[in-house]
Amino acid sequence: MEKEKPKNFIYEIIDEDIRTNKWGGRVHTRFPPEPNGYLHIGHAKSICLNYGIARDYNGKFNLRFDDTNPEKEETEYVESIIEDVKWLGADFEDRIFYASDYFEQMYKYAVELIKKGKAYVCDLSAEEIRKTRGTLTEPGIESPYRNRTVEENLDLFERMRKGEFPTGSKTLRAKIDMASPNLNLRDPVMYRILHAEHHRQGNKWCIYPTYDWAHGLEDSIEGITHSICTLEFENHRPLYDWFLDELGIYHPQQIEFARLNLSYTVMSKRRLLQLVKDGYVDGWDDPRMPTISGLRRHGFTPESLWNFAELVGVAKRDAMTDIALLEFAIRDDLNKRARRVMAVLDPIKVVITNYEGEEELEAINNPEDSSAGTRKIKFTKELFIERADFMEEPPKGFKRLIPGGEVRLRYAYIIKCDEVVKDGNGNIVELRCSYDPDTKSGSGKSNKKVKGTIHWVSAKYAFNAEVRLYDRLFTVEDPASKENWLDYINPQSLNIIENAYIEPSLKDSKPGDIFQFERQGYFCVDSKYSTPQKLVFNRTVTLKDGWAKKKGE
Ligand code: ATP
Ligand code: MG
Repeated sequence: MEKEKPKNFIYEIIDEDIRTNKWGGRVHTRFPPEPNGYLHIGHAKSICLNYGIARDYNGKFNLRFDDTNPEKEETEYVESIIEDVKWLGADFEDRIFYASDYFEQMYKYAVELIKKGKAYVCDLSAEEIRKTRGTLTEPGIESPYRNRTVEENLDLFERMRKGEFPTGSKTLRAKIDMASPNLNLRDPVMYRILHAEHHRQGNKWCIYPTYDWAHGLEDSIEGITHSICTLEFENHRPLYDWFLDELGIYHPQQIEFARLNLSYTVMSKRRLLQLVKDGYVDGWDDPRMPTISGLRRHGFTPESLWNFAELVGVAKRDAMTDIALLEFAIRDDLNKRARRVMAVLDPIKVVITNYEGEEELEAINNPEDSSAGTRKIKFTKELFIERADFMEEPPKGFKRLIPGGEVRLRYAYIIKCDEVVKDGNGNIVELRCSYDPDTKSGSGKSNKKVKGTIHWVSAKYAFNAEVRLYDRLFTVEDPASKENWLDYINPQSLNIIENAYIEPSLKDSKPGDIFQFERQGYFCVDSKYSTPQKLVFNRTVTLKDGWAKKKGE
């Protein structure tokens, strides 16, 4: 059965276009990143939207690098973007394009506009253009170069291309209307001179097109039907339309939607770059970053990002999305797929004084997925439990281990704490306990009941690993709204536990493997710092609640 299509205003527009046969039944979208940084979760949202539309209408989806600005673009970014788009499962097949490959065609289109008297070479500096642009209440001032002849413009434009003029000395501008109420239509710049090397074109060009001039042409050249972009381009749409109409070429429809904003993080590439460059994080793929590569290292799955994008929906008005929604999406996904295991992050030793030898106990791998089966875990005389699961002076309602009290060890026995051993400074170093052999899990021999169940690992068989616990990167909901936004970085956003104890079944785990550490959250094996000698686990997300109250023991 076909999956039901999402209901939002963009799908309504496309449904109507199909009904009226506007594009001959075609649907063709694109994702057009500028390769000046790594992709973030906002881009993921745009990819899911654009690719999702192509998929739902049996259309096509292009990956296009909008590489029109040579100054900030790098091949490293191109490679990371391709990897991220593929990882999300957005299939562009063989349609990977570079706007810079269209420079020659764009140049020809510009010459056409000059010939029509719709574009002119202007000698004003960038600063002068800004100053003569006017304001929302006042019209702009026409450039003294506005009425150059077509011949003069053609000659100057060709010489601009040939490199006869220095950087910034001339521009090509569209001749529209300096009094337009839409500032974008006040003779916008189409080309500027920039003697800079381009990551793909080398030194072939020294004039570079602006976004407004280039973008519609790129969409037109590729035969895009629906050019979906974020709301800040709404005021640019009349210009998008003007260029394509004046040229009389294939004319896609631009549609705007609200960009994704996520609480407790920043999303602009400029800010993300600063976090990387200034060493606040350890790279674009730091698990605290909202980048796709960071989320991947953090243990997020493509499915969780797709679900998140669907939960957020498509809106016409900007809003702030609570990061808790993203956490919900990953929890929901990992709950179904992550194998449950036991790991002790802050250990305290337990010696079972009346137990000798060892035995294998059966543990369930995933109660949400019976096909995941069971595994054997070794029970031994010496164990580790979580330091926080024992309290000498417990508050009321504490259900775990206390002096003289009893608790169940998950999948094992009920134990009783007989003695607390301390070092010279009064720190607890060991708990001496006794077990009740009749209380083995699942044996049904005893109907003794205890309030709490805690996790544990065998001291003999558990292995040592590093565990990294993450918190939100910022302490305020909307750091980008603060002038000194870097002051709001959360100093506790990373907590490294160097010696956690993990059950032996995880010993051969590979980077990216995902588990639920019972009662602690979901964790994945870090792809950057794990070594064959020592695995590093990243906590992806905490559990909403532990299984302290779970039945079945
Ligand atoms: P930034 O503002 O972070 O630099 P950008 O918009 O300049 O991002 P582009 O590489 O131009 O980055 O973006 C590629 C595509 O992703 C564009 O179509 C853009 O509309 C979309 N996009 C960027 N940020 C978001 C966001 N936060 N939510 C949804 N879509 C986004
Ligand atoms: Mg952009």
